[in-house]
Amino acid sequence: MTSESQTASAALFLGDHGALDFLNTVAQENGQPRDYWQSDDDVLAWLRHTGLMTDADATRAAPGELLNEARQLREIIRALVAQKKAGQPVDAEKLNCFLASAVSYPQLLRDEGGKLHVTRIFASPAPTRLLAPVAELAASLLAQEDFALVRKCEHPECTLWFYDRTKSHRRRWCSMALCGNRAKVARFRQQQK
Ligand SMILES: [Zn+2]
Repeated sequence: MTSESQTASAALFLGDHGALDFLNTVAQENGQPRDYWQSDDDVLAWLRHTGLMTDADATRAAPGELLNEARQLREIIRALVAQKKAGQPVDAEKLNCFLASAVSYPQLLRDEGGKLHVTRIFASPAPTRLLAPVAELAASLLAQEDFALVRKCEHPECTLWFYDRTKSHRRRWCSMALCGNRAKVARFRQQQK
C-alpha cells in the first residue's frame, strides 16, 4: 500500500461514528473535494470495512446504482447533521423516505441439515437494502446522540466530521496527523514572523 492510500483509508475512518464516517468519504484535498467513492465496489468495500453490510453475498443491482444511491444518501445525511448542528429544525422527510423504502422482516428458516437460522428478508431492491443500516445509524445519531460532541474539524479548509469520544471532550481536529499538525505549523510560522 502506498503512503497516499494509507492516508486516504485512515482519513475515511476517523469520525468515531459510522454515520459520520459515511459523510467523510468526501474530503478536501488541496482545496478540492475528493470523493473516495468512484464505483459500486468502493461503496461495497466501505460497507464491509465498517461491518454495516447485512449479507456478504448481496445481489447486484444495475451497475452504478449503489454508487448513485450511496452518494444521494450521503448528501441527505450531511444536510441533516448540518441542520441539527446549526440548531435549525431538522427536515427528516428525505431520510424517512429512504427508511420507508428499506422495509425488512426476519424469517426463521431451516437449512438442509435441519439447522434453524434467522434471515432478514428485504422487500426493497439491492442498493437500498445495502444502505439501510447506514440510514438507521444516521437516524439514531440525530435522535439519540449528544450533538455537543458531534463536531466538524476546526481547520477552515477541512470538511470532516467526528464524534468526540475523548475523556476531556476537547477534540478539535479530524486527526492530529492531518489538521492538528497543519494548525501547529501555521501557528509556528506566525510566531516566527
Ligand atoms: Zn481536519
